[in-house]
Amino acid sequence: MGDQLRSGKQIDKILRDLSLKKEAPKSGYILLVLLYILAMAGTVFASRNGSRMISLFENQIPFSAFAGVFSSLANICIICLVVLYRKVGFSTSLILLCTQFPMLVVNVFIRHNASSFPGFFMNILTIVAITLIYLNHRKIYKYQQVLKEQAIKDRLTGLPNRFACTELMNDLVKNDEKFALVSVDLNDFKSINDTMGHDTGNEVLKAVADRWTALSDTMQDGISVFVARISADEYMLIISGYSLSDEVDKIVLRFKNELEKKLTIDGCDYFITACFGITEYPRDDNNIDSLFLFADAALHEVKRLGGINYIMRFKPDILNTEKLVETERKLRYALDNKKLFFNLQPQFDINHKLRGFEALARMRDSDGTYISPSEFIPVAEKTGLIDRVDIRVFELAVQFLSDVLRGDKDSDLIISCNVSVKHLMKNSFMDEIKGILVKYQIPASHIEVEITESIMIDSMDKALERIDELKGMGMKVAIDDFGTGYSSLSYLNSFPSDLLKIDKSFIDLMNTSESSKQYVAAIVTIGHVLNFSVISEGVEDESQIETLRKIGCDYIQGYVWGRPMSADDALEFVFS
Ligand code: C2E
Ligand code: CA
Ligand code: CA
Repeated sequence: MGDQLRSGKQIDKILRDLSLKKEAPKSGYILLVLLYILAMAGTVFASRNGSRMISLFENQIPFSAFAGVFSSLANICIICLVVLYRKVGFSTSLILLCTQFPMLVVNVFIRHNASSFPGFFMNILTIVAITLIYLNHRKIYKYQQVLKEQAIKDRLTGLPNRFACTELMNDLVKNDEKFALVSVDLNDFKSINDTMGHDTGNEVLKAVADRWTALSDTMQDGISVFVARISADEYMLIISGYSLSDEVDKIVLRFKNELEKKLTIDGCDYFITACFGITEYPRDDNNIDSLFLFADAALHEVKRLGGINYIMRFKPDILNTEKLVETERKLRYALDNKKLFFNLQPQFDINHKLRGFEALARMRDSDGTYISPSEFIPVAEKTGLIDRVDIRVFELAVQFLSDVLRGDKDSDLIISCNVSVKHLMKNSFMDEIKGILVKYQIPASHIEVEITESIMIDSMDKALERIDELKGMGMKVAIDDFGTGYSSLSYLNSFPSDLLKIDKSFIDLMNTSESSKQYVAAIVTIGHVLNFSVISEGVEDESQIETLRKIGCDYIQGYVWGRPMSADDALEFVFS
């Protein structure tokens, strides 16, 4: 069984449908035979009535001239039969050619009709030619067969591969037949390979294939399970012919139980387990690529969760978790390999004089495209990696400051660094930033820490303590995204910050209605009453600057006067 193609009828059907194996239609065979007989009849007729003339394009042509045309047509039919219908075509051709021999022998040797002589030899030569064509074609066909089987079959286990799965799914979708796609991954297979060697690993993979193929052969009530191997220790089941989704769960459970039975190889017992991710057509999606993705997502999720439950059905939520895990992996990689970098976005006073820059974390994907901070910062917050992000950006910002101060020691440039509330509350935070400032010999007065206003609600007392410490070191403190949280005036009053950053959402609306403008004006006034400077974020056009100038806003940050830029560009910008 080992090296044979499994999952019987379906795999045969897939092979049949593959363009390489497409058979010529039966009707063509009959047509060729009829055409051959007609052509032969034409040849005989033309040679027997050779002296009769036929008028063609104002020329008188003897009938005998057409004998060659008919005979060539007959030969083409013979060649087509051999090429298109292989063995059957070859046998038919041989029979057709051989039946002419008695007539030719009588004509040549008994009637001494010399005109049949060329026909006799032509028949022999045609037989030689088609035999050569047939033998050669048979060789090519065999190669084609091998190639085709390799294209759909996994060599080690003899199971169909991923391509075969796609073909089968295409077929099921075409017939609008519902099916379940189950992605399977053996647990801890790597440790079997590492400890017992690859040969044992291969035996395990083959044994799994054998068990599951045998089980799939026992399915009843029209249910069919197509077992395939996708790669290394990944398999796939395609279950079709069921009526209720519950049946799928039961079938998967049967495959799981079958797998978990003791397996003995070379006298050693193994207890193999696997995780299963299930998705269903058309319940989850109509698209085959999506179904592959969903089954894999469910599989990864059940693996990630660990525990003893090895089967999971796809749910849309899983994709979000998948994405989170993927982003976390990328972020970890970027942090470990110093690939996390930063951009600097300029901030100006209302007269367009440079105040400083906000440092913004940046990360690239493996294909070079940017991953937005709005994607990786929340993941960093969730996974606790935000501390490392903040500190990395902080250090890059301080490095940048040291470059600026080297060029102009009297510079009063300010760099604003975002610090997550969670990070700020950790005791290690102060030591970390102090260490960096000492390392680069940078006065704390050049640094501003941006904290979102949620800090005032979550943990006011501890936050106040921290902020006092920062201010004690000489740093500035800004309240980021002001207006989006719920800070009350009383909180704001007791919060010793230097700068209020009005959130972009208010700036966007400011010039659309009088009330929105009045709202921004009120924030600016309150900020000034409480002794804060006020900066507007996300300013995108001159008309907004005009309004902000009238309202009395102190600073501007936005695409209108400067987008986030690299540290090199920022350095050039400072000294231009
Ligand atoms: P944020 O602190 O509110 O940063 C301002 C965001 O607005 C930046 O997006 C900036 O590129 C964008 N922006 C500035 N001007 C304009 C404008 O005129 N139009 C538009 N459409 N957008 C503008 P970015 O860089 O995508 O950062 C998103 C958020 O990620 C930041 O919002 C901040 O909350 C967070 N973040 C970025 N870097 C860090 C970091 O190092 N640590 C922490 N904890 N958070 C960070
Ligand atoms: Ca910010
Ligand atoms: Ca902001």
